[in-house]
Amino acid sequence: MAEELGITVKKDEDFSEWYLEVVRKGEFVDQRTPLKGFDVLRPWGYRCWELLQQRIDELFKENGVENTYFPMLIPVSFFEKEAEHFEGFNPELVKVTKAGDKELEEELAIRTTSETIIYHMFSKWIRSYRDLPMKVNQWVNIVRWETKMTKPLVRPREFLWQEGHTAHATKEDALKQVEKIKEIYRKIHEEFLGLPVMILKRTDLDKFAGAEMSLAFDMVMPDGKIVQGATDHLLNQMFPKAFGVQFEDKDGKKKYVWTTSWGLSEREVGCVIMMHGDDEGAVLPPLIAPYQVVIIPIVFENEKEKVLKEARKLEKDIKRLGIRVHLDDRDEYTPGFKFNEWELKGVPLRVEIGPKDIEKNQIVAVKRNDGKKFGIKRNELKELVSILNSIQKELFEAAKKHLKGRINDAKTLEEASKLLKEKGGFVRVNWCGSQKCEEKINEELTAEVRGTLYGKQEKIFGPCIYCGKNAKEVAYVAKAY
Ligand SMILES: [Zn+2]
Repeated sequence: MAEELGITVKKDEDFSEWYLEVVRKGEFVDQRTPLKGFDVLRPWGYRCWELLQQRIDELFKENGVENTYFPMLIPVSFFEKEAEHFEGFNPELVKVTKAGDKELEEELAIRTTSETIIYHMFSKWIRSYRDLPMKVNQWVNIVRWETKMTKPLVRPREFLWQEGHTAHATKEDALKQVEKIKEIYRKIHEEFLGLPVMILKRTDLDKFAGAEMSLAFDMVMPDGKIVQGATDHLLNQMFPKAFGVQFEDKDGKKKYVWTTSWGLSEREVGCVIMMHGDDEGAVLPPLIAPYQVVIIPIVFENEKEKVLKEARKLEKDIKRLGIRVHLDDRDEYTPGFKFNEWELKGVPLRVEIGPKDIEKNQIVAVKRNDGKKFGIKRNELKELVSILNSIQKELFEAAKKHLKGRINDAKTLEEASKLLKEKGGFVRVNWCGSQKCEEKINEELTAEVRGTLYGKQEKIFGPCIYCGKNAKEVAYVAKAY
């Protein structure tokens, strides 16, 4: 039996099932592969990723980052060189031991992240302070054998991402790079994807294996759970020491470099769908939408050719404004069917043109996010640009409002537990900074201390929520995917 068209689940009734339906029926991802967590990004979903990729790649290049490509297979011994890193990633490493029937001489792993192989090469490229900073990035796939439940785009086992790696002469310089990337990621989340983020400094317990400091971009999804978007790390010197990445400084002394690494993945596309979508399907912010405008001709048998001719002209004129536009002139479907289909896929703006509109020398535009209709004069098509701009802003504002209601304060574990249950999102608690208390908080609340707000010393509003001693920081606790 053919699957029912349209979304059959309400977003606020079964969020998880709603998401799966939108992703599948909107043709973003197809999970019907032989392997769990190894999904297909269909053209519609891949195009979203591609648009995001293009924009952020420009920003990286402005920062002097160059694209590279490193091998996908890495000797397991490389991972083992940095004990903490190996321990962190070993459970997710997929290992390759055979070629044909022959055992390989050395056990290999499919990359989960590429610090090790990149530092191996850095040690050959970096000789002097003149070689620094060195900034590379790669757009690749990685495999992490997740044991948790997989989710298309949000937690697959194989996913697309970029990983940036830089080496610097001083820690200060490396930290500046972390800051620079933080700004790029913030901009991309807020201005491009319409996703407000909490930039948190992860605790020592939770930071990246091999990092001195990890910044993470946490987002509160509509069901109150957290998704971690991009991450941005200042690494400790264990890696350069393990791989011998040294340079001769101006003073003639040999020194180890300081490094950073940072990544952002296809998960962002999943977050966009989760955050902005509604009961009809996805709602894409114009900047990431494969088509920003879709034209649907309203045709009647006797005037079909006339309307189609006008629609084609209209498509050309809209394209000239720099808008990604598509004319849906399929003969076999009714306008109503087309409306639903493009709504499901999340196209921000629908334009209708029929015989009456042609007579009046106008078109009708309908916004996906709130259904508002506009009659636009045929010679004032520029209005479409400003409507698209306002959709972009409105989606971000709505998401910001959602986030604001999901950051609450708690002074006791009971309060925190109640807030997590009823409102989800983040609960701010006072914390003494000890790892023991952190572990206890995680355990008692079956949630996680996600970190402290980066770049801001927040005012403490009571003693440590667990031990009752003096608090040093305000920690953000939440339940995550
Ligand atoms: Zn404490």
